[in-house]
Amino acid sequence: MTERPVRVRFAPSPTGPLHIGGVRTALYNYLFARQHGGKMIFRIEDTDSTRFVPGAEEYIIESFRWLGIDFDEGVGIGGDFGPYRQSERRDIYKKYVQQLLDAGKAYIAFDTPEELTAKREAVPNFQYDAHTRGEMRNSLTLPQEEVERLISDGNQYVVRFKIEPGEDVHVNDIIRGDVKVNSSILDDKVLFKSADQLPTYHLANIVDDHLMEISHVIRGEEWLPSAPLHVLLYRAFGWEDTMPAFAHLPLLLKPDGKGKLSKRDGDRLGFPVFPLEWHDPKSGEVSSGYRESGYMPEAVINFLALLGWNPGTDQELLSMDELISQFDLAKCSKSGARFDYVKGTWFNHEYILKTDDEKLAPQFGAILKENGIEATPEQTSEVVRMMKGRVSFVKELWPLCKFFFVAPTEYDEKTVRKRWKDYSAQQMRELADLLSALPDFSMETQEAAVNKWIEEKDYKLGDVMNAWRLTLVGEGKGPHMYEISSFLGLDETLRRMRKAIEVL
Ligand code: GLU
Repeated sequence: MTERPVRVRFAPSPTGPLHIGGVRTALYNYLFARQHGGKMIFRIEDTDSTRFVPGAEEYIIESFRWLGIDFDEGVGIGGDFGPYRQSERRDIYKKYVQQLLDAGKAYIAFDTPEELTAKREAVPNFQYDAHTRGEMRNSLTLPQEEVERLISDGNQYVVRFKIEPGEDVHVNDIIRGDVKVNSSILDDKVLFKSADQLPTYHLANIVDDHLMEISHVIRGEEWLPSAPLHVLLYRAFGWEDTMPAFAHLPLLLKPDGKGKLSKRDGDRLGFPVFPLEWHDPKSGEVSSGYRESGYMPEAVINFLALLGWNPGTDQELLSMDELISQFDLAKCSKSGARFDYVKGTWFNHEYILKTDDEKLAPQFGAILKENGIEATPEQTSEVVRMMKGRVSFVKELWPLCKFFFVAPTEYDEKTVRKRWKDYSAQQMRELADLLSALPDFSMETQEAAVNKWIEEKDYKLGDVMNAWRLTLVGEGKGPHMYEISSFLGLDETLRRMRKAIEVL
């Protein structure tokens, strides 16, 4: 095959929220396009009007905006090959359906749904194909005048692809190699329906891939069974020279590896299977999304990129740029990729660590605000800096960090029993005096003075620090003591210490 510019497409049907597997498919297309300096096209395949769901298209666009996957051409963007929404391309498809009819590669069939059902009931494993089409009501069995009369009388019909039996069809798949299927097992697929004057997925998909000069079709494994038909369609049109290369990506499997990942697994185990929260317009049901659950888009990208491919090294944290340069379509696995959602939270933790505190601060600031706390951006970043190493999600900071902003009103009983000794009140009084006499309240000054005092008095460092923590935090958690006291400042530190001395 001749080398041609890389043009790939992501072509969802707007039948609901984008599944996380679809996001992975789009990501692999994106990585491949960017790696080859190619184009990434966003096409909406909405020829099945019965499955159209309002809001789905907008949802998909918003998902990619959030994830940072950008398209070069398509719905909402434009480009030289538009329109990119299939429902706006009806006339184009009609022309190509006619071309197949004229060439005798497709035929018109009048069998009603009732007739087909009856046939299926009468003949086990009935398939509309070379062996049975001769017994059906179609343009191959009916006289020409009858066909014309049926159409002009307004009878509904479909156009079926006439598959020649007994031939090995080869799908050349970048991931799976040569996939061979005998045409005898394929049925004469419906390509067009008179009822809505619309093509089916198969025809529209092939015509558009051809007209939009798609070079590589990268899509989920669930489309592999359609690929032999697509190869035959390319041939029927005489387009074999520009047939795209195929790559069918491995399935995403349930977390336990048994079977295909489903929304139910997410509900059962508590992880999202959609990029954004989805509000079902019909049922009103709300499904959780990665964005609303507090994932960073970079973490989701990194996590998904490694479900079905890896760089062949130990490196797990890869930026988009690194993914673009290292991704290798040919090295994707054939077997399914287990959806290890716990690993997804690990990625988020790692990306929180990598992200600047100032960048995370607004998100934490919003949570503070929700809890009625007014904090400066500096205070917010400072707490993020001290505590982000302990969380996988920014929202987990609040229960851990509340004490920075709210003085304890009670003291954890267990900690009191263990840490508050007979002499603790006395030690805290001395410590308070010492702190208030310091020339400044920097961590270094505090630490030097406190250490000196502990040494002189022959106190135990652990005793002092544990009791002090209890007075400031109300329990036994938190970062280093001097980080806490410096954040609180001298006045608040003393206030909390005095209160504890009084109460305990
Ligand atoms: N419209 C199909 C989908 O919803 C596209 C499949 C393909 O990429 O060929 O995934």
